[in-house]
Amino acid sequence: MSHLIVQVVLDTPLDFCFDYRYPVASEDTQLPQVGQLIVVPFGRRTEVGLVVGIKNHSEVNEKKLKDALSLVEGVPPLHREWIDLCRFAASYYQRSLGEVALPSIPKKIRHLGKLALKRALKSLDEKNGKFLSEREEKPQLHQAQQNAVSAIMHSCGFAPYVLYGVTGSGKTEIYLHSIEQVLDRSPDAQILVMVPEINLTPQLETSVCNRFPHENIATLHSRLTESERLKNWLKIASGKARIILGTRLAVLAPAPKLALIIVDEEHDPSYKQQEGLRYSARDLAVWRASQLKIPVVLGSATPSLESWQHVLTGRYIKLELPERAVKDAVLPAIKLIDTSKQLLNKGLSGELINAIQRRLEKGEQSLLFLNRRGYAPVITCEACGWISSCERCTAYMVYHKSHRLLRCHHCGLERPVPRVCPDCGNADLQALGQGTQRVEEGLKICFPDARVLRIDADSTSRKGSLQQALFSIHRGEVDIIIGTQMIAKGHDFRNLTLVGVLNPDTALFSHDYRSSERLFALLMQVAGRAGRSSLRVGANPSEVLVQTRYPMHPLYQATLSHRYEKYASELLAERKNAGLPPFGYQVLLTAESRKIETALAFLRDAAADIPCKDGIMINEPIPMAMMRIANMERAQMLIESNSRACLQHMLREWLPQLRSRKTGVRWQIEVDPLSI
Ligand code: ADP
Ligand code: ZN
Ligand code: ZN
Repeated sequence: MSHLIVQVVLDTPLDFCFDYRYPVASEDTQLPQVGQLIVVPFGRRTEVGLVVGIKNHSEVNEKKLKDALSLVEGVPPLHREWIDLCRFAASYYQRSLGEVALPSIPKKIRHLGKLALKRALKSLDEKNGKFLSEREEKPQLHQAQQNAVSAIMHSCGFAPYVLYGVTGSGKTEIYLHSIEQVLDRSPDAQILVMVPEINLTPQLETSVCNRFPHENIATLHSRLTESERLKNWLKIASGKARIILGTRLAVLAPAPKLALIIVDEEHDPSYKQQEGLRYSARDLAVWRASQLKIPVVLGSATPSLESWQHVLTGRYIKLELPERAVKDAVLPAIKLIDTSKQLLNKGLSGELINAIQRRLEKGEQSLLFLNRRGYAPVITCEACGWISSCERCTAYMVYHKSHRLLRCHHCGLERPVPRVCPDCGNADLQALGQGTQRVEEGLKICFPDARVLRIDADSTSRKGSLQQALFSIHRGEVDIIIGTQMIAKGHDFRNLTLVGVLNPDTALFSHDYRSSERLFALLMQVAGRAGRSSLRVGANPSEVLVQTRYPMHPLYQATLSHRYEKYASELLAERKNAGLPPFGYQVLLTAESRKIETALAFLRDAAADIPCKDGIMINEPIPMAMMRIANMERAQMLIESNSRACLQHMLREWLPQLRSRKTGVRWQIEVDPLSI
């Protein structure tokens, strides 16, 4: 009996391949191929690994080699380009290939439900049965839309597009037309459509399913059951799924025939994975398109400054939609209400209350947006200054009135609301500030006959409850909606003519330099909720009222005129002066320990290890802004350079040393961190 040597990567931080013997019993033995999944012994366990090479001899003493157990049946070999994508992500984000490739494979395969696998396999051919309606009416494209679709379809090779247009300008139509043309053009082409969060943006999914009722569509996101995930992943890997619709993790879908990638709301922070492999799915999507030499469309009303800078330098091509697609649907008027000069009633200004009243009279809907759930952000004792802080975090405990609880939104700690001040015994404790529950309560008092609905993480924790809430809004069963940023995205409420934004000011003074960019995007997005319906005779004009104490702030002034471009250049100029992204590159090393001194000392030692300091700036280690979470104290060290290559080179030399340190301190490296 002879054998081959297979080189296998496994889900471990060790960045090398493991050699195994693969016995070849007879001529009939199925030979392994690169890209196949294989079951191998590893330590005392058996693991599923990925075959990345096959050879006749090993450099390791062959007597020490173990035999591979079996190839995983029913999974086609994953193609080389997919392995190269994982390899790139691994090297860029400083992980091992195994840590990138294997976690992206469904658990059912990795845990070897071999029998289950065979049964699943049969149903891969099924078409999208979800919405077997007629092909939805497809509108004639406007000139600007036609130009965009035509540019995308006539791209040769890699072509990165920024599809820039306000909410309602017809970006989705462009996606749908491009998808249709790609499908028609070649019988096996696949298209990857990425959305920020599938549960928050069901509309795009519905549009795609309605428009292509007879296509094989596979979704990929974190809320799928393991069986769904397995089935969809296999549909993708086998090339049967033509349209892949998913969240950030879909960027690693092993589709063998990708011909087009679409990233909707490309600026959205949820494209950044914030734990484990900390990658930017948008950036990987662009890399993947360049690797495959295909077009990638980044759609947004407020493109990320990274993408916008590429537009300005001509690296990305701008496709612009100058106005709203539906005739007469104009952008809503935005108005700033100065709250520094007036007393608010339950957090609402007189003008906002009047505006809501006018909507109620005409049977129209209003939406209030407040990015704080709970009843009040904090409770306090006015006699002695006691404040409800979390004993485990550098954070306040939020008052949840309906449950009579104080709850920490960072570590989950819950405590009953004290009857009297724990410090001085004063019985008169005050709830300070407004959370969504408190505004809901206030609205019910101000408008006793109105139907008020709250949408936030607390009200939608049950599976399906968000969908229910959205349906009831669409059916007109709600007059006033109060919600967090969950409702800022993608929902298209036809009868909504008023949006109120309550107290967005905190972002203006954040330590995070990206917070203005985010707030601006959010305001534009929330504003986009209003005025999508074509105007009905006699209806109130659509308006957005922003309650702020700083109406003269440039951010709000830019919001007033819907002027993304002007504001983007201002922010870019600031970033350039400060050497911040996209003009500089960053790596963040974070460390956590029971004691902040230990974490800081670890970072200082780590800094001393940095081998090549040319072109690199190492900032002093500091405690993180939220220093303590769940009793772990956290510190960070930011490393900057104006050369990406310099940083990457340094990391390759430095990290092996860092990994070999035995300190007991938990640490993380993050390339291109999103928040610092
Ligand atoms: P976006 O994705 O930019 O928010 P959509 O593509 O969803 O915009 O378009 C907004 C609305 O305008 C939708 O109701 C859509 O059906 C409609 N629409 C888009 N393009 C056209 C068109 N060319 N003619 C008529 N209606 C259109
Ligand atoms: Zn007190
Ligand atoms: Zn806490």
